[in-house]
Amino acid sequence: MKNFTKKAELQQYLATLRAGGAIVTFVPTMGALHPGHLSLIKQAQQLGNVVVCSIFVNPTQFNDTKDLEIYPRPILEDIKKLEQVNCDILFNPDVDEMYAGNESWHLDIGELEGLLEGKFRPGHYQGVTQVVYKLFTIVKPDIALFGQKDYQQFLVISRMVSLLNLPVKLVMCPIARDADGLALSSRNIHLTPADRQHALILSKTLNSIKQQFSPDHIDQLQQQAVTAINKEPGVTLGYFEIADAETLHPASKSTKKFIALVAATVGKTRLIDNVVLKD
Ligand code: AMP
Repeated sequence: MKNFTKKAELQQYLATLRAGGAIVTFVPTMGALHPGHLSLIKQAQQLGNVVVCSIFVNPTQFNDTKDLEIYPRPILEDIKKLEQVNCDILFNPDVDEMYAGNESWHLDIGELEGLLEGKFRPGHYQGVTQVVYKLFTIVKPDIALFGQKDYQQFLVISRMVSLLNLPVKLVMCPIARDADGLALSSRNIHLTPADRQHALILSKTLNSIKQQFSPDHIDQLQQQAVTAINKEPGVTLGYFEIADAETLHPASKSTKKFIALVAATVGKTRLIDNVVLKD
């Protein structure tokens, strides 16, 4: 695997590959790689012939400085994992390589800015679009892959791509889970064994709502989910929302595609998860 820390060197290398006809696929990450990230790399390998993975813990998307400080950064293990799955290129810049001092950025992402994660993490999606835009202009991928795990992020990035006419195709990949249902996340390493048990209420509740789902009982199901999660010790619910999967507005009977999304703090760790209910 080729490992770049400087954008100019990566750009030069990719230009040569592109001139030879390569289709470049791209998986942006913040590292602490787990099988969810690696499933994106494997999917990327099916769709093109050069896979670029970036590892960059982007400071501008953290609204909580403590969260940024403790974000795991096991770069040597990450490199090993990427080599094991035959990733072609790693881009691992430092903050100065990505940002020239205090840059300002604002993209009109519409109502997504103030809904769900947007509401709970003010400024988060401005930071996400800022860094993904920069990464797209450096890597110039034909295809970029993101996880359904961050469903709202996928909608926000899709909106950016369409607003700015960026020449990249976006692909959303399924959520990878542990055998007991917990959605894989780099933050799971902060869970104590007890937290981890309590955290299972999130995927269990999502599954149970999926099993019972009917557009006629949205309010009732939502209430049932909130009650179940609030009962779980050590878990503080941020939101549980049955939403329109295209707008993330609360769903109604006439909604066509439904999704249930949850965010909760378990112990000291904030977790998110979701499940598509009905297409
Ligand atoms: P992160 O490193 O958390 O920023 O995630 C990088 C990419 O991996 C994003 O597109 C995430 O949605 C995706 N991802 C994170 N966790 C999972 C998972 N459990 N399954 C599938 N994709 C994931």
